[in-house]
Parts: sequence; C-alpha cells; structure tokens
Amino acid sequence: MAKRDYYEVLGLTRGASAEEIKKAYRRLAMKNHPDRHPDDPAAEARFKDVKEAYEVLSDERKRATYDQFGHDGLDASMGRGGGGAGAGDAFSDIFGDVFGDIFGGGRRGGRNGVYRGADLRYELPLELEKAVFGDTVELRIPTQEECDRCHGSGAEPGTEPVTCPTCNGAGQVRMQQGFFSVQQTCPTCRGSGRIIKDPCSACNGRGRVRREKNLSVKVPPGVDTGDRIRLAGEGEAGRNGGPPGDLYVDIMVQPHPIFTREGADLHCEVPVAFTTAALGGSLEVPTLEGSVTLKVPAETQSGRAFRLRGKGVRPVRGGGQGDLYCRVTVETPVNLTSEQKDLLKRFDAALNRGTDGGERHSPRSSSWMDGVKRFFESIGS
Ligand SMILES: [Zn+2]
Ligand SMILES: [Zn+2]
Repeated sequence: MAKRDYYEVLGLTRGASAEEIKKAYRRLAMKNHPDRHPDDPAAEARFKDVKEAYEVLSDERKRATYDQFGHDGLDASMGRGGGGAGAGDAFSDIFGDVFGDIFGGGRRGGRNGVYRGADLRYELPLELEKAVFGDTVELRIPTQEECDRCHGSGAEPGTEPVTCPTCNGAGQVRMQQGFFSVQQTCPTCRGSGRIIKDPCSACNGRGRVRREKNLSVKVPPGVDTGDRIRLAGEGEAGRNGGPPGDLYVDIMVQPHPIFTREGADLHCEVPVAFTTAALGGSLEVPTLEGSVTLKVPAETQSGRAFRLRGKGVRPVRGGGQGDLYCRVTVETPVNLTSEQKDLLKRFDAALNRGTDGGERHSPRSSSWMDGVKRFFESIGS
C-alpha cells in the first residue's frame, strides 16, 4: 500500500509553519487517540499515521529530507547506523501537552510528567552461519537509564521534589485572556506539578543518565534479514517513574562467500573437472556443517544442480528444513603442457571420427547447430 503524504495526513500544505504542524498534530492526535476510540483499529491506524507524520515534519532535518526525497529518502537515511532512537521523547512531550490541555487539571492517575521511555532500534549484522544455527550476541547500547543516585526523581538524595507553588501541584493554571479563561500547562513546573529545589548532582535533575548498556541477546536459529527481536523494557528509561521503552534488534544477515540463501534453501556453485563431469566421480562439496561427498554421475553437464536434502536452513518461524542446491560448473583446463594438448587433440579427433559427426558425443551442440541452420534457412540467406 502506498504511503500517504505526511502533509496530507496532517491536512496541511508543504509550506506549513512549525506552529501549524504542531497545532494540526495536536488536533488530530486528540481526535483519533485510542483512549477515545477503544477497540477501533481504524482510529488507531489514523493515530499512528498522524504520529508518524508529526515525528518527521516536526524534525527540521527529517522534514528537509522528506521534502526533497519523499518516503524513500527517509527510509534510506534512517536505515543506516545502529541505535536510531525513535522520536518517542519529542512525542511524549507533546502528548503530555495534549492531554494536559484537554483534560484540564484532572491529573489522570498521576500521569502528568510520567512518560514511557523511547524505543530503541539496533541493526545487528550477522554471519550466515550464526543466523542459521543461532548465537548469543553481546551488544553495547547507548541509552538513557534511570539515575542511580536519585532513583529517577531528579532530586538530590535526602531532599524531595516539592509541590509547585504556582499551580499547587495541579500542573495546570488558569489564565485570563480577554473574556476567556483558559487552562494552560503550568509554566513553572511544565505540567509535572512538582519542582526540584536541589537537583541531583549526578543527573542535574533530569532523573536519567546516558549510559552504555551491555546486553546479551539470544538469536534463535533460522533468523533471516528483516527478522526483529524485541527486548521488552530494554529501551530508554521512562521519566518520573514511567515504564522503559523496548529495544528492537533488526537482523541483517551478511553476504556469505560460498552460500546464498533463498528462504529455507541454500545455493552454492561448485567447479568440477571436465573429466569428472564426463566420466562421473565424487566431489567434495561444502555445507554449513562441513563438507560432504557428492556423487557426480557420468555425462554431467555444466549448470546442473544437485539437491542435498535437509542441508538448508530450518526457518525460525517453523516449516520444514530447506535443502542445499549445488550447481556444478564444468571447468575448462588451463596451463596445459604440450603433451596434454596433444592428448586432447587426439581425443577430439576420436570424437569426430565416427560416422555420426559428433552428434552422439555433443547432443546439445548438435541440436544447437540444427537450430542455427533452420534460422538461416528461414531468413532465406
Ligand atoms: Zn539523579
Ligand atoms: Zn506548576
């Protein structure tokens, strides 16, 4: 399905200002929010579209990329590099705003200022063998974690955040604008209802710190490029006690020097001496579990593929184990001595001495030559 234009999703034109984008986003996010439409997948889809459009258009760099290259440009620029954090933070901020504005002082279950942490995405390059047999990978991930010193409160240990004197903890203030009285997010505490007098010295009151996190990820056997492993709760820490986001590990299987993979099957090319191809014999061929012996029948032609049952991949999502296809390429001998050349000349003469002019020994060449003859006859030359 083609993706809709982000401006269209927000009901805007290309020249829209940042303020217009924010306004449109607030209005549409509110209108389609899942809390207002429980069990309505259409509304949820619209909500997600709106969120995605906003994440791009509210970010100057992403917006410029999108304006110039469209959706494809964004896919390309976001596809590279590990750990591309989602725009979850920016989203949460605005999101809190939306509900602060709409639902007024009613602090819904202490939701004010409490945000879920951002999801993280990590691209994991993986060798084919490891993708097939599974592996345990150690990842180092830069992330935001809850500050140990203040346990996320942002207040220096021994002190506590105090109730905001401007809004008395409501997070909202009433402002008189001409005839109207409007609810607004409290400018002193920015909606959290609390202020920190003594900020924690480790995190400067943010409640979270940047850290490199070591994670051990179990990669199940049979994964392929495009598969994604979700590690619940291993994303960035939430704020003010909010739950952490998730970490998504995207598998990228690296090209292999011998095998190519197509779903559950593996393919490889094996060179075979032309004498072996003609007389038959056995051939060492590689599999992911080591080499095996392949019987090559006499009169094997170049390009013929041999199937080794069960030597492919067992896909992670189930289904039977795939096969390995070894395609043989008959190799023309090189660096021949004069004696070897002589033998080949005598061999060639022996082939053509027969009354059938070689048809018996080279059926493909013969039928090909017949085809060429018919072609020249048909164009009347
Ligand atoms: Zn702290
Ligand atoms: Zn306040």
